[in-house]
Amino acid sequence: MEYRETADQAAEFIRLALPLMTRNGIPANPKHYTVWYDYVSGRNQPLKDSIDRALSGAQSINASLSDELFEQFFRSNEEKVADQMRSEVRALIASVLQQLATSGGQANHYSQVLEDYNERMSQDLSTGEFRRLVNEFMGETHQMLTSNRQLEKQLEHTNQELIDLRSQLEEARHEASTDALTGLANRKAFDAALQEHTELARETGRELCLIMADIDHFKHFNDNHGHLIGDKLLRFVSNILKDSLKGQDLVARFGGEEFAILLPNTPLRGALAVAESLRARVQSQRLRRTDTQQPIGGVTLSLGIANFKASDTPENLIARADSALYQSKRLGRNRVTLETQVPAA
Ligand code: GH3
Ligand code: MG
Ligand code: MG
Repeated sequence: MEYRETADQAAEFIRLALPLMTRNGIPANPKHYTVWYDYVSGRNQPLKDSIDRALSGAQSINASLSDELFEQFFRSNEEKVADQMRSEVRALIASVLQQLATSGGQANHYSQVLEDYNERMSQDLSTGEFRRLVNEFMGETHQMLTSNRQLEKQLEHTNQELIDLRSQLEEARHEASTDALTGLANRKAFDAALQEHTELARETGRELCLIMADIDHFKHFNDNHGHLIGDKLLRFVSNILKDSLKGQDLVARFGGEEFAILLPNTPLRGALAVAESLRARVQSQRLRRTDTQQPIGGVTLSLGIANFKASDTPENLIARADSALYQSKRLGRNRVTLETQVPAA
């Protein structure tokens, strides 16, 4: 979450948050402070609702409630999964170490036994003594084998557990960066990618373009067909975007019915071709409602394109692509506008 307060506003929030925390015996560490700063600034409505509910009920406001709120509102599922895994991996390591110690002890014993047998073999032995020696030797070897097999089994088990843990982590990471409705990258993942690619483009001087796209008159589809069909339509357009892009291109759901498409190593004319083909593909789809077979016509996209300049911040680049998108809306929608075609304000 970004903080855009001025120094004065932020200072005011400190003045409001600190007494609240002190009065309720909550240590003002960064974790608790995050919770109460967001509460007094009112920037986080669900958090505010939770605290107001607790305040109006008889629940006491204390450090442990503050801890719970931090867990609930500020820690991602990915971080929680990673924390849980950390303790699982430590338990695995402990059990392997234990098995290794057992096997190591057994191996030491076995090597002593071998030396001992070697010594005894060099002496004169009767056939009976020799037979007994060989039998004992076989017994010791069998024990060593069993111990090694146990270690092997333990390591196989550990390996499998690690494979499972890794895939759970991957899943949590994927979930944290994916929009649940459309399966596209979410805003958080987009912001991170934009930051990374603008830095890279600045360093290398390579081209980078950003397309912003917005479904035209989407409100009508919701109003005429209901939200569920609206959601389907969003997934449908998302799939077209996903299928049309490749390689390094990143397509994200930027917000409601708005998409951001990042095209690394792509000059303006390349981005124009991509945007034009997306526009044409969306327009040419013939959709029908599966329940009534009624056609859902007129699904179109408006798009705007901006080309990264070395002096750009990520926000600038988004703002210029957005102005180009709104120029497309003003000119009648279902079209692509380059930033260079936007009249100066
Ligand atoms: P314009 O051509 O100017 O973009 O018109 P519009 O109707 O698409 O734009 P407007 O911003 O007025 O409305 C966007 C609508 O998108 C309103 C909101 O209810 C809907 N919307 C946003 N997110 C979702 C969603 O996840 N599912 C559904 N079904 N609708 C959504
Ligand atoms: Mg729209
Ligand atoms: Mg919109």
